[in-house]
Amino acid sequence: MTTAPAVPATTVAVRLTAPGRLDPTRVATPAPGPGEVLVRVTAVGLCGTDLAVRSGARPVPALPWTVGHEGGGRVVAVGDGVDPGRVGEVVAVEPNIACGRCRFCAAGRTSACPDRRSLGVNAPGLLAGLVAVPAGYAHPLPAGLDPDLAERVVACVEPWVVTRAALRRAAPEPGSRCLVVGAGSQGTLLCATLLAAGHVPVVAEPHDGRRRRALDLGAEELVPGEVFATVFETSGAPAAWSTATAAVDRAGTLLLIGQHDGPSTVNTHDLVQRQVTVTGSLIYDHPHDFAAALADLPAVADTLAGLMEPEPFGPGRAGAAFDAVAGADRKVWLAP
Ligand SMILES: [Zn+2]
Ligand SMILES: [Zn+2]
Repeated sequence: MTTAPAVPATTVAVRLTAPGRLDPTRVATPAPGPGEVLVRVTAVGLCGTDLAVRSGARPVPALPWTVGHEGGGRVVAVGDGVDPGRVGEVVAVEPNIACGRCRFCAAGRTSACPDRRSLGVNAPGLLAGLVAVPAGYAHPLPAGLDPDLAERVVACVEPWVVTRAALRRAAPEPGSRCLVVGAGSQGTLLCATLLAAGHVPVVAEPHDGRRRRALDLGAEELVPGEVFATVFETSGAPAAWSTATAAVDRAGTLLLIGQHDGPSTVNTHDLVQRQVTVTGSLIYDHPHDFAAALADLPAVADTLAGLMEPEPFGPGRAGAAFDAVAGADRKVWLAP
């Protein structure tokens, strides 16, 4: 193991100790195993998945459980077999670790891997001062990015890559007008992704603050009656399904990113007659989606940072941070 000077022997992890209850807990600093890097975590963002883990709606393997999956930080040590030159890098962690052996992984579709380990969900999470992660899933940010910006924006990289993978899979015609249903954190990041790729995002969002934020970014507001060859549903709200399906053009594509585990009513006559393609888009595929995104990060890093709350929560206020997610117009994040 190669270590930078002064890696502390203990660190504070934010742990779920009972459903609904988060406790900052002092734990031993993990030793990076072979092929791993030890990361001093600088920023972790929160999303609906974290809320479901906290509430117990998404059961975790054991309690206490370290939460968090959107984040990164600075490499402070490397395990055997990892280039010691990586110490000092700012990295964004790709938190879905594919098995690398199944037929989906072999085909490059790691997002469909049935044996994926998801940090914070079924493998220990990122919300701790120091975490050990596989080196190949700790993606270095491009050199030359302002260090403070880099250490902060890592909280936004994972959900941003989700939107990039959705755009890659939807593959709209260049310069398309695309409908984004829902302008929560995921929808707004998707607007930024569409704008950066030369498309025109049009938003449907009932919440004034969220809609305003998307419009400020450069999105347009949906005028009822317009139809789109490509529609992205990001909210998961059951009511959004009718907005999304009504706005898909004939022979168009509806890409679902948002999720809801209750039934939705589908009018198959309508979908067949109009030949609508409905596709689920889950996370991203390893390693190319993260690698390609990070190469493009400098052009959008300021925009992404502007979609985050100006100040992080500390680990002692993790409960307040989780409580703030539902009402926040921007990405809530912690600096552990
Ligand atoms: Zn998330
Ligand atoms: Zn696999």
